[in-house]
Amino acid sequence: MRYVIFGDIHGNLEALEAVMEKMANEKPDKYICIGDIVGYCANPNECIDRVLSLNPVIVAGNHDYAAIGILNVDFFNPYAFKAIEWTKEQLTAEHKELLGNLKLVQQVDNFTVVHSSPYNPEMFEYMENNYDVLLAINAMDTHLGFVGHSHIPMSFTSNKGHLSFSTEPYAQVKGNSKVIVNIGSVGQPRDENPEAAYAVYNKSEGVVWVKRVEYDIQKCADKILKANLPDILAERIKHGR
Ligand code: ZN
Repeated sequence: MRYVIFGDIHGNLEALEAVMEKMANEKPDKYICIGDIVGYCANPNECIDRVLSLNPVIVAGNHDYAAIGILNVDFFNPYAFKAIEWTKEQLTAEHKELLGNLKLVQQVDNFTVVHSSPYNPEMFEYMENNYDVLLAINAMDTHLGFVGHSHIPMSFTSNKGHLSFSTEPYAQVKGNSKVIVNIGSVGQPRDENPEAAYAVYNKSEGVVWVKRVEYDIQKCADKILKANLPDILAERIKHGR
């Protein structure tokens, strides 16, 4: 089985369309969407429609819940907050209903899918240190998990109590080790590489690859400015941070 995993699209249609073309070439058996389809960029409805066309398993991101008013946005930075207020006005009733019905965690085949962490997923916290990662790994019923949220692709492996991290675009799932792979972001990468990210999991080989795709960043940035969203949102996607 081959799975393609993608998310943190954040209304960036240009990045999503570029990634969809590459993802189709992977000939996946199933698509998995890690959430945060909306927020930050100017095409939330279009992005939801494109994602649905792939018939993926989808979990909820914090921006998805915030955009329909079921998540407190007190902790959002002012730009994220403004973008969420804007997104709320754009979303169709049908799309709001869809976002509200998304689950926080899904188990697919031999892996777990969750936006932030398998530990207290409703809190949408970041895995910022060893303790957070250990809680996440221990909370996971499977040996493999996929997350997004930080927009920084990397993997965390626990092997006989020993924890290791890697920013290589490659992770191996073997033996008794437990692995969580952050698949990076389609629409707002933050690892100083502005190219859109997605991942491929080849179950028979036990490997995960994170891949990057160029897209028309300027076009997306122009739309952000035209929509009167905060300027910084148009700027940061050019630098991947
Ligand atoms: Zn996100």
